[in-house]
Amino acid sequence: MKAVRITSTGGPDVIRVEDVASPKAGPGEIVIRAAAIGVNFIDTYHRSGLYPVPTSTGLGLEAAGIVEETGEGVTRFKAGDMAGFCSGPIGAYAEAHVVPAARAVKIPAGIDAAVAAASMLKGMTARYLLKRTFPLAPGDVAVVHAAAGGVGQIAVQWGKHLGATIIAVVGSEAKAKIARDLGADYVVMSSADIAKDVRALTGGVGADVVYDSVGKDTFQSTLDSLKPLGMFVSYGNASGAAPAFEPGVLAAKGSLFFTRPTLFTYTRTPELLQETADDLFDAIATGIVKIAPPTRYALADARKAHEDLEARRTTGSLVLVP
Ligand code: NDP
Repeated sequence: MKAVRITSTGGPDVIRVEDVASPKAGPGEIVIRAAAIGVNFIDTYHRSGLYPVPTSTGLGLEAAGIVEETGEGVTRFKAGDMAGFCSGPIGAYAEAHVVPAARAVKIPAGIDAAVAAASMLKGMTARYLLKRTFPLAPGDVAVVHAAAGGVGQIAVQWGKHLGATIIAVVGSEAKAKIARDLGADYVVMSSADIAKDVRALTGGVGADVVYDSVGKDTFQSTLDSLKPLGMFVSYGNASGAAPAFEPGVLAAKGSLFFTRPTLFTYTRTPELLQETADDLFDAIATGIVKIAPPTRYALADARKAHEDLEARRTTGSLVLVP
């Protein structure tokens, strides 16, 4: 079967598509034949070496498709079920992948495989950020960075549903329109003085929470955008890793809270994983969250998908189709 491999870390050109042996399900595992494969920013960190991985590896953490084989002891899935995974093991950019059944989720009828692959990792992330890390309540003011991106589009819609005022930060006018159409109350351009704009929009008070996926470039503006006792949620590195800092900075800015959460921690048990997935699929089924049709690339064009994602050319989600 065809699968993406990298043998060294670096730019998108390290991505190769190779013929590899088809996977077999060991005890507790299932093989999922991918109908669609999710492309996520974290895949670029694995490829570039920002998040260290062994140097001969596949890429990708997320796919949706049909269960082809179940290993000994697996009771939750049977061949023919629609299932997906979004926390690895790494190697999802392939026609089929073997995953521990405990890390797979059932995909309900009515959720199409491409929608599932476009939304599991990004939507479950939005879900834990908005409902667990800093649970949004009516009246809260939340800043959502990269608001027209994969996680961002879902977070804007879900945040509005939870009653928050959403200040969306985006990198272009086209992305501003997307954020507005999704219901964002205000849009701030990332080229502007973000903290100044957030303060102006909040009567000088600042935001209750900033969901910051940009990292390095927005670290200071996020600190300057929060109100006293506000929450800095640093959950991504699209511009590079956020810098190390002295805890005293949080005191000086008004007894701020700081967290660096991961989806894996919030879905660390099969129960937490399925609960998070079910809440997301319910939000999609009931229209709380609408998933824009993902941009599709052939599996063989994984390199192009990475190039587009890192060049900020994309909106919404990207999927690879084997
Ligand atoms: P996106 O679709 O959001 O793409 C990234 C976006 O970041 C770009 O489109 C761009 O939007 C913005 N951006 C700002 N600065 C840069 C830069 N220098 N280079 C590239 N992009 C930049 O990707 P995803 O939805 O896949 O992921 C969003 C973020 O969420 C990532 O940082 C990812 O690592 C993080 N994440 C974290 C998880 C966690 O649990 N901690 C889980 C899932 C994702 P614009 O042009 O509008 O500025």
